Amino acid sequence: MEKVKTLIIGSGPAGYTAAIYASRSNLNPILYAGLQPGGQLTTTTIIENFPGFKDGIDANQLMIEMQTQAKNVGADVRDGSIVKVDLAKRPFIAEDERGNQIEANTIIVATGASAKYLGLADEEKYRGQGVSACATCDGFFYRKRTVAVVGGGDTACEEAMYLSSLAKKVYMIVRKPYLRAAEIMRKRVEDQENIEILYNTNTFGLFGENGVEGAHLVRFKGEENEENYDIAIDGFFLAIGHNPNTELFKGQLELDEQGFIVTRPKSTATSIEGVYAAGDVADPTYRQGVVAAGAGAMAAIEAERFLQEKGEK
Ligand code: NDP
Repeated sequence: MEKVKTLIIGSGPAGYTAAIYASRSNLNPILYAGLQPGGQLTTTTIIENFPGFKDGIDANQLMIEMQTQAKNVGADVRDGSIVKVDLAKRPFIAEDERGNQIEANTIIVATGASAKYLGLADEEKYRGQGVSACATCDGFFYRKRTVAVVGGGDTACEEAMYLSSLAKKVYMIVRKPYLRAAEIMRKRVEDQENIEILYNTNTFGLFGENGVEGAHLVRFKGEENEENYDIAIDGFFLAIGHNPNTELFKGQLELDEQGFIVTRPKSTATSIEGVYAAGDVADPTYRQGVVAAGAGAMAAIEAERFLQEKGEK
């Protein structure tokens, strides 16, 4: 069976940064890129908040650069996914989708999270053309325009507030008759002049010739006073939550109630010694590329120190 000191699962900023650090500490890591090489950032266009690129950088290009950098310092970056892990004892055993097994002294989990979508065909049709699940990434393109945010939780309120500082007008499309967000957030969006909250409302389609030009909505769905109506918008932002990609680790690593991997404070250490988690898979709060990259560096440093202590380096 193939043996490795550090196995990295995932290829977003956390995974690649962990690979760069681990390679430079002579851990000869293997990284499995997974189903979406480059991770969530590859779903956006230009990234303007990753430091070091004064004019911004195409997010796909950024991820290619990170991958190349990881390879250049010696990381073994592989296509394919890890489909099974056994963390019961060290060395851990992982298996890829081709059935190859790897024995790993340490594992860095960087499998990320996936934004939830409503499941409408139009979300696919207009993805990157007005449909986004990240206001911080894409809000800038909607300066002085009209956008809608779907959801009534804290994320939706934060995204709506952020967008309201850029856009001319922000609709919030909320399926319940109230916002679920914390009171302070609720008050903030309610008081914001250019935010209009559409309660009891669901989206059933989007329309537009060149990208999103509007949304088909239904108010009081299934009730006597059900009413269909359209709004004109240039951007449609989903903020109905994220699912951490932690299926593989259920029943093995400690997860929080939303399924995110629990790490020790100021550390990437998980509930199992020798397993580290970095990036969005362990971060319900920030969800930023630069934060994930930082956590990837931490994970590799912690893995290296652990191997050193165990005399396994
Ligand atoms: P939440 O699960 O809290 O909220 C999701 C929102 O999306 C709800 O309003 C929900 O509606 C709505 N929604 C879900 N599915 C659909 C659907 N299919 N159609 C329409 N609407 C839908 O997710 P968040 O991402 O907002 O927050 C996740 C966690 O992170 C929460 O615990 C939150 O408090 C926390 N958080 C905290 C922040 C802070 O403190 N600053 C910032 C961001 C997040 P419904 O209410 O009807 O279920």
